[in-house]
Amino acid sequence: MLKRYRIIAIILMISILGIDVRLFYLSYYQNKSVSAERSASVETYGTGRALILDTHMKPLVEYESRKVTAVSNPSYVFSVPRRYSDTQLCPHIIGYTDYSHAGVSGIEKDYNAFLKSIPNQITLKTYYDAAGNRLLGKGTVKDTSRQCTDSGVCLTIEKDIQTIVQSSAKSIGKGAVIVMNADSGAICALASLPDFNPNAVEKYVNDEINRPLVNRALLRYNVGSVFKVVVCLAALEQGITEQMQFYCKGYTACGGVTFHCHKEDGHGTLNMREALAVSCNTYFIELARKVGYQKICEICKRLGIESQITLSPSLAAQAGVLPSEKNLHSPAALANFSFGQGELMCSPLWLGTLYSAIFNGGYYVTPQLVKGTAVNGRLQEEGEPTQKKRVIQSQYAYAVLKMLRYTVIHGTGQQANNEKYAVAGKTATAQTGYFEGNNEKLISYFIGLTAIKGDMYTIVVMCEGGTSGSLDCVPVFKEICDKIYALKEKQR
Ligand SMILES: [Zn+2]
Repeated sequence: MLKRYRIIAIILMISILGIDVRLFYLSYYQNKSVSAERSASVETYGTGRALILDTHMKPLVEYESRKVTAVSNPSYVFSVPRRYSDTQLCPHIIGYTDYSHAGVSGIEKDYNAFLKSIPNQITLKTYYDAAGNRLLGKGTVKDTSRQCTDSGVCLTIEKDIQTIVQSSAKSIGKGAVIVMNADSGAICALASLPDFNPNAVEKYVNDEINRPLVNRALLRYNVGSVFKVVVCLAALEQGITEQMQFYCKGYTACGGVTFHCHKEDGHGTLNMREALAVSCNTYFIELARKVGYQKICEICKRLGIESQITLSPSLAAQAGVLPSEKNLHSPAALANFSFGQGELMCSPLWLGTLYSAIFNGGYYVTPQLVKGTAVNGRLQEEGEPTQKKRVIQSQYAYAVLKMLRYTVIHGTGQQANNEKYAVAGKTATAQTGYFEGNNEKLISYFIGLTAIKGDMYTIVVMCEGGTSGSLDCVPVFKEICDKIYALKEKQR
């Protein structure tokens, strides 16, 4: 009996001891692992903002990276995206942030709250042993689970086309280039020259001469001969046909003022198509006189010339200015108006909508820049879909389009003509009334319409302080189209 108790007592003691050993073992290793977790240090890298993406979800920010050494581990070198490149794409649209990574201008400002809500970050964890020494095996681990490359503000910009435009537009020095889809109003590329490096904004703030931070695509300028298409539309709507003939003798007198045609000895007899092709001022003075200013102004108003065009709250094109009715009673003011001079002003972006309407069969399409916001690759579209509003009857739009095609084949836009893609378009060289020394400052333009591999593009090239549309702007247009053509050939 006693012996049995002794055996039971021994078994109990052994089992209790066993449990103790197990508990000791567990607690030791658990403590060990807990202490290893507790001694991991965490570092976060990145701007803590979501991306700004192009129409195909390609990043328009953070597409370059820099090498960084971990603070906790000097032997650990890794890549961190830079918010901006020193040759940043569309800086006038993207805008920039301040030192606390808050949006100050452009999309960075307008979508600041959304961009901050999805921080694009890299986390580094460095592990230590109980004695506080960095673990050699595990060392430093990069955690990219908070990187979100498919979330951000989605724009209509096409990164590849923007890259082309930004490189080709450099030769105009000061001005703007807009590539717009004539059918949808989507802005595929926009460049304002000179541009700026968002990594060093302070360098540009006080540059009052070049004003690199200003988005010239959205400012209003003197217009010139690209406006003649509106006079053609007004005439056609009044029942004046393109067969209307006029003899240009090189000058004409209106209200006591003599207006000269740029061809001093005159163009001779011209019809409307020929007059547009050679940009004959005296023909258009006569045409506007027949049509009257009311009809010309009415077409401009139908196309919203006197309204701002808002792409995003801080990216709005200035409203255009029509000459006052009081002034247009004067034959001299009407003559100036007929070839886009005088008080008339509008933005390159508005001209894009005017020429898009001629190209797309008579519809005003609202220019669009922001498609919406994407979270984990799912796009939430913003606002209402683009409104297409008929503003010109299709037969008149088509008639003017044919005249613009004739201008490229036989007139001032000949350098844009080529066998790969058809181009229609109009040049202009506008006077500003501002003189630098003896030279009047000029604004030159080429607005070209072309379909490349099924996409209809309206391309506005504007050069501030240029010499002529065909010298400054047509070559830029041609280079951009050739590169877009080559890009699309490659994509096939
Ligand atoms: Zn003439």
